[in-house]
Amino acid sequence: MLLEVSKPLVENLLAKQDKDLFTVSDVFDYPLPDAPDANFNLVVCESCGEVVAENKVHLKDGKALCLPCSGYRA
Ligand SMILES: [Zn+2]
Repeated sequence: MLLEVSKPLVENLLAKQDKDLFTVSDVFDYPLPDAPDANFNLVVCESCGEVVAENKVHLKDGKALCLPCSGYRA
């Protein structure tokens, strides 16, 4: 069923000329937005001492814990 829908679309696309699919121009500057700051802060698990990426730390009873020590089961 999916092939019934996609096959005519693909065949239509493949039958087109490059000039109908692409626009070629001179190279131009394109301003990119600033990337968000990467988070490389590390935290030491207060139970086992494992180093954990800050965004993966689990807070439990006021302690910063790694996933296994937090008891969390995905
Ligand atoms: Zn731990």
